[in-house]
Amino acid sequence: MSGAGDDLDHWADARSSMQQFERAATRVSLPWFGGASLLAVAVVLFITLGVLLDLSRTRLSDSFAWTRHGDAILLRLVDIRQSVAQAEANARAFALIPDPANVAALTAAQREWRTDEAALRALVSDNPAQQQRLDQIYGLVEARFARLEWFVRLDAAARAAIVAMPADRPSRTQQRRLSAQITTRLAAFRAVEIGLLDERRAFAERDSTILDYLSIALALLAPLCGVAGFYLLFQERHRRHARELQMELIHTQRLALMGETASMLAHEVNQPLAAATNYLSVVNRLAAGTGGTEKLRETAQKAAEQINRAVSIVQRLRNFIAKRDSERASESAALVVAEAVSLFGTLRTTIRLRTDIAPGLPNLYIDRVQIEQVLVNLLRNALEAMQASERRELDLSVSAVAGGMVQFALRDTGPGLPREVAERLFRPFVSTKPDGMGVGLSICRKIVSDHGGRIWAMPAEGGGTVFAFTLPGHDGDTAAEAA
Ligand code: ADP
Repeated sequence: MSGAGDDLDHWADARSSMQQFERAATRVSLPWFGGASLLAVAVVLFITLGVLLDLSRTRLSDSFAWTRHGDAILLRLVDIRQSVAQAEANARAFALIPDPANVAALTAAQREWRTDEAALRALVSDNPAQQQRLDQIYGLVEARFARLEWFVRLDAAARAAIVAMPADRPSRTQQRRLSAQITTRLAAFRAVEIGLLDERRAFAERDSTILDYLSIALALLAPLCGVAGFYLLFQERHRRHARELQMELIHTQRLALMGETASMLAHEVNQPLAAATNYLSVVNRLAAGTGGTEKLRETAQKAAEQINRAVSIVQRLRNFIAKRDSERASESAALVVAEAVSLFGTLRTTIRLRTDIAPGLPNLYIDRVQIEQVLVNLLRNALEAMQASERRELDLSVSAVAGGMVQFALRDTGPGLPREVAERLFRPFVSTKPDGMGVGLSICRKIVSDHGGRIWAMPAEGGGTVFAFTLPGHDGDTAAEAA
């Protein structure tokens, strides 16, 4: 047994170092600033870029609006100057030829000036300084129009006298000065407006230039972040996949190691059992030969039977874990169930197991050992699930279902499937047990699907879980015939 002991030590060492390795592998955490974060940043940058472009467009249209506003003011100023000049020309013409049309034109020019003045006032309503300037212009223009009106209303002689006056007479000089003041004030008003317009345009242009630079920077940065994000995501997936493969390899190694160790143990146990059987046969013969007591012979016989039973169990265990190629043959479902249950019974015996095998089932063309492995896995899981349950009952039924299939269903009275594994139940390395490898159900699925069947799990009525799988019946071959 020393060989087996060494193997056990070896197994324990390997197991603990692999557990450490697994823990280290699952601890490998991804950088917090992963691909997903970069993609999120790219999306934010694209949104910001959109906002900036919109702002830039708004600033540009502001600039156009200001230009239109400035143009409107300048046009009104020109119109006002023209109205005044027009009125002066009409008054002069009337003095030469007293045509009433000139008076009408003067009145029209005055009307026009008032319309222009009101429009101009509305345009500069947001600028008190310009309003004040306009007030002054208003006073001067109105005074000029009043004087022109007075002039055309004089009689012809009075008008002729005024026209004949020397140009340096104070009243004539005063009128010229009034006219010049109007021109100067209008020019000053215009200069202020042009200055304002330039200032606003410069502001708008500066803002729009800053926004343009920011937009260009973002337009470069956002796709870069996007590409980098996708690259990192791809990398992370690749790393995760590599890690999964690594874990799978570790598990496979563990399984292989476990298989070898169990095989070795079975081999080691087999030899002393066989030897003991031989010795007991000798005892049996000796007791019979020397006329020893019947009781001694019976006991020895029973001991031999028990040891033989142990040998056959060990043999089954050996078959079960031996590495072997798939061997399919026509088997009866009842035999498979009986062997699996007896194999399982060697592991645990304290649970009540009820089997219900429907009569007249077709035979199955299967690898018996593999299907027994499926059953043992399901039985072992059910047992482990029921460890803390008050009621511990197992029902295993086998029946014929549609499509010529045979269905195995194992119902337990455990707590049901944990929510975190329910969806990924048959995937490898899914386990809620501290020492679980999480490969049992994935192996079951592989075996069942290799045999052309299907496996699934569902909650059992009244609590617990039902694991069921189907296998195709072997055409024209029933258990009765096979027997
Ligand atoms: P392992 O037994 O090593 O954990 P399995 O693949 O056999 O691996 O099982 C995966 C998981 O499925 C178990 O950890 C357990 O959470 C759950 N499970 C399996 N069978 C049952 C059952 N009968 N009742 C409740 N949960 C189960």
